[in-house]
Amino acid sequence: MAHANGDLFKLLLEASPDPLVACNGQECIVHLTPAAERLLGWKREALLGQPFTALVPQRLHDVEGSSLLRYLLGQHSAQGGRPILLPLRRRGGEELLLEATVGHAREGERECILLSLRRIPEAPSFAPGGLEQDTAIQLWKYGHAGASHEPSTAARLYQSIFENAPLGIFHFNKVPIITACNDYFVRIIGSSKQLLIGLNLLTLRDERIKRCIRATLAGEHTHFEGDYSSVTADKVTPVRAHFAPCCNDTGQVSGGVGIIEDITEQRRIEEELAIEAALVDAFTRAAPIGLAFLDPSLRYVYINDMLARVNGRPAEEHLGRRPSEVLGSPGATLERMLQGILGSDKPLEKIELSGADLGREPPLRYWACSFYPVHRKDGRLLGVGAVVEEITARKQAEQERARLFREAQEAVRVRDDFLTIASHELKTPLTPLSLRLANLERRLERGEAVDPSALRHARQHLLRLTALINDLLDASRIEAGGLALRTQPTRLDVLIEHVIRVTEGTSDAQHRITFHPPSAPLQVLGDPYRLEQVIANLLENALKYSPGGGAIDVSLEPRGDVALLAVRDPGIGIPTDQLEHLFERYFRARNVSTHSYGGLGLGLYICRDIVERHGGRIWVESAVGHGSTFYVALPTLQEASVSGEHAAAHAVH
Ligand code: ADP
Repeated sequence: MAHANGDLFKLLLEASPDPLVACNGQECIVHLTPAAERLLGWKREALLGQPFTALVPQRLHDVEGSSLLRYLLGQHSAQGGRPILLPLRRRGGEELLLEATVGHAREGERECILLSLRRIPEAPSFAPGGLEQDTAIQLWKYGHAGASHEPSTAARLYQSIFENAPLGIFHFNKVPIITACNDYFVRIIGSSKQLLIGLNLLTLRDERIKRCIRATLAGEHTHFEGDYSSVTADKVTPVRAHFAPCCNDTGQVSGGVGIIEDITEQRRIEEELAIEAALVDAFTRAAPIGLAFLDPSLRYVYINDMLARVNGRPAEEHLGRRPSEVLGSPGATLERMLQGILGSDKPLEKIELSGADLGREPPLRYWACSFYPVHRKDGRLLGVGAVVEEITARKQAEQERARLFREAQEAVRVRDDFLTIASHELKTPLTPLSLRLANLERRLERGEAVDPSALRHARQHLLRLTALINDLLDASRIEAGGLALRTQPTRLDVLIEHVIRVTEGTSDAQHRITFHPPSAPLQVLGDPYRLEQVIANLLENALKYSPGGGAIDVSLEPRGDVALLAVRDPGIGIPTDQLEHLFERYFRARNVSTHSYGGLGLGLYICRDIVERHGGRIWVESAVGHGSTFYVALPTLQEASVSGEHAAAHAVH
């Protein structure tokens, strides 16, 4: 009977279209249907008589202290005969998650355990060792409880959100195994749903994700941002994830949900922005103009090196601070200006500031500063931008141009004045000369006696003319490169005495010339002719510009290694502001009119050139109405004891 039943049983099994595996009491495989052969990829002959564990991953051979089959039978009765999930090994070693229903029959000694297997929709297959033992057990425990119930409206709503949300969403149980996920999640991870459902999250490589999952299962909300490297696909996806615990009716954590955002695009944009920012930073940093940006509370947000240099402080010292805090009172002025811009929302362009405005010492530098209110696209005010351009070179060029223009105008004026004066000066001796010559001619024609004084006067006018022409020639020689000097040891004291004698011969009685000679002869290495010209010129000026007469004092004395000549007069003096121009060509002080005082303004110019060519210096001390003193300092010749007579002979002629 038993035998007959056994055959019948085999027959029934053989005829079954379902994948069935039968084991005996020793848990050895006694039969499997062709459908089971196909499902598992094993040939029946290879399995018959083999322990059932041949089909089971090693880690599931013993479960909670009993064999797998016994454990399954226990679960079977505990779950009221509902199918449970079970991973079995296919022939190649691949694991296949199946739905299994376990049946059990005992007849005396004979015992039969029957497993009915079924592919589950989207059943994932696992690489060997892909599921931990507890994972599998949890899978069974999770089972498909409630799967057969009709979903409620709320559940359908959740389902719809779950499937259509533009985020990857997945649920994991306490193991933690992924039990459900939406398509978006599958797309982000780049695997298949079949592979993802059933995946134990603790088998992932990234420790940070695992820490998040564990913390979530401990009841925390956790976050992760980073690159997710897929275990099952060769794909790295930058993601941002939020994990939230799910609790059961008793408030205990039964699993969690993960909400994943693919931030590839965001990363790309961030990367692009970072590159743009780096470029902008590089350009603005190296820009030859100063740039800064201040927020609405007028604190520096950005300043480039150029402007930091203008401000005289390192760039970092500006950031987060207001101009008044960085630059003191010039900064406070700037701040008021920027407040105005924020208030009026109008730019201020090309304001010129100098170093003096910033409290700087010369040499002065200049900047053109423009300030602009900066808005977002939606019009909201973000702050003030500053653009500062150094314009020192332009300013200096402008100033130089203005100076040259003034000088050119002055030169034109001087030339015009000169022409007027020169023609007047040349005509002055010519008119009386011509009159006197005509008079002489008449007298001679009439056979009358000629007055020698008339001839002397005519000669004086001639000398005056010659002197004027000589001055003009000397001035043009100086301009052309300088007067030629024929130097020799020259007794200056003797030379002065000689000039005074000659001058006294021509001067009127109103003036009294006094010479204060040095206590010992004073000798210089010089051109006696030119030095005489200098002394004569100073003496003539002293007489000419002292129209009221008076004492003219001439002194010569040694001062260290120079001989100091001074010519002092009680004359009209020179306006203080004119003193610096006195030795310039054609210059005549404004207190000398052409009519009252003749002259071309060349004498002192020539004197300066001669004195400087001798290595000396000429200067004047004067005050209007209080007379003038002209000084000439010339280097002395060391051998001062040369015989006076001998030197004088040289000096005068
Ligand atoms: P000139 O006397 O022919 O004008 P100078 O070159 O000798 O030219 O002198 C230049 C100017 O200096 C004079 O025009 C005059 O204004 C001023 N000056 C020179 N010497 C004296 C002086 N002793 N007292 C006052 N002014 C003087």
